[in-house]
Amino acid sequence: MSKIRWKIACLLFVLALDIVFLRGMYHSYVQAKDTLFIPVNGDSEEINEVRRQFSGDKQIALTFDDGPDPVYTPRLLEGLKERGVHATFFLLGENVEGKEAIVKQMYQDGHLIGSHGYSHVQMSKEEIKTACELIEENNKKIEAIIGKRPQYLRPPYGAWTEELECTIDMTVVMWDIDPLDWKAQNARKVVRHIVKNVEPGDIILLHDVYPTSVEAALEAIDTLIKQGYTFVTVDELLVD
Ligand SMILES: [Zn+2]
Repeated sequence: MSKIRWKIACLLFVLALDIVFLRGMYHSYVQAKDTLFIPVNGDSEEINEVRRQFSGDKQIALTFDDGPDPVYTPRLLEGLKERGVHATFFLLGENVEGKEAIVKQMYQDGHLIGSHGYSHVQMSKEEIKTACELIEENNKKIEAIIGKRPQYLRPPYGAWTEELECTIDMTVVMWDIDPLDWKAQNARKVVRHIVKNVEPGDIILLHDVYPTSVEAALEAIDTLIKQGYTFVTVDELLVD
């Protein structure tokens, strides 16, 4: 064998070794990465949770409960429109009465409309039949206004039990960040809590029935947009 041929043979051998080594490394990397996605108890909610954390997107969702309010909700809708931000509203049936135009506007602006039940009761303490009727009543009410049945449900106080299977066709949405805006009623405090604690994939709980909450939401949006966050509705966040 000539010297050059010998050199080429050596080179090819080294190259082959490198490829084998790199492939091995890649496989162990993929395996390590996959184990991060294995849920502890096999629950699909867990999978969502884990994927959201590792998606790498700085997406978050603002959610507003208890509305609509005749004054503060339109103010919030205006501010969201100016900023090109979409949010999720969990409407209380009782408060929808007489404010159908606001709900329509909300829907036309591209926000997601969910249900907070008909009245602000702890559903887990109600008779299952009563709780189901109250959920259904609000669904019908909202559907009559926007022509679409709500798919997402936030039970008041986050009180929910698996027995409430009547709403199996709805997705129950809880939250990650609760700045207790209803208690603080102080925009600065609420903004500080959100900005300090928020992480990509988080769902933030607010109430559009307080002027301080509306002010806080808009200020938090301005701050977090500068930090590279984007705002999505909960259906966009929960879908992989
Ligand atoms: Zn509520």
